[in-house]
Amino acid sequence: MRILVVEDEEAIADVIATKLRDEKYEVDTSFDGEDGLYKALSDIYDLIILDIMLPIKNGLEILKKIKENDISAKVIMLTAKSQLEDKLKGFDIGANDYVTKPFHIEELIARVNVQLRSNKNHKDILEYSDLSLNIRTSTLTCKLTNESINIPYREFLLLEYLMCNKEQIISKEQIYDKVWGIDTDYESNNLEAYLSFLRKKIKIIGSKVNIKAVRNLGYKMEM
Ligand code: CA
Repeated sequence: MRILVVEDEEAIADVIATKLRDEKYEVDTSFDGEDGLYKALSDIYDLIILDIMLPIKNGLEILKKIKENDISAKVIMLTAKSQLEDKLKGFDIGANDYVTKPFHIEELIARVNVQLRSNKNHKDILEYSDLSLNIRTSTLTCKLTNESINIPYREFLLLEYLMCNKEQIISKEQIYDKVWGIDTDYESNNLEAYLSFLRKKIKIIGSKVNIKAVRNLGYKMEM
């Protein structure tokens, strides 16, 4: 699961990002409203932590754009105690939750976990055809053979993304953004190599599922 933290106080952003990474989330940060909006509109995030007072564009403007563009991410706003009016406005626009500054990092993490667990798209077990992927343990099982294999971190992110979008063509760019992050240099990651590791593991446990390359378009998980 990938989270975007938009917060201009870099020290706070870093604390939040570090703690979320400890919790096994993928995290990107933005330190101003313009970059925050740009990243938010990529629609690769499951959740966005959004400060209200930001340079260039404020958090409420960003939230409005997120909603106008049908971005699926949950949004938790960060607000100062005095900004009650902003808080009400934000709920009107569609924020999922608020945390008032100053906050304990544990409280914010708890709110994040609540939002992501209440997301009905997110389950502990992802299934497609004869495959079953346990999100907590990173274990992939073939239900036909009952064989299991452990999936390393980056391959796991890739597999999770493919299984969530099964039988749909996903472009290379979408995969890079989702699995490696939007700031990544495409050339530096060898997607083909990771896909071939995954295909081997799927085969080893006896699954019939295939990750097909679709010429000039991308990849598709199918039977
Ligand atoms: Ca701020």
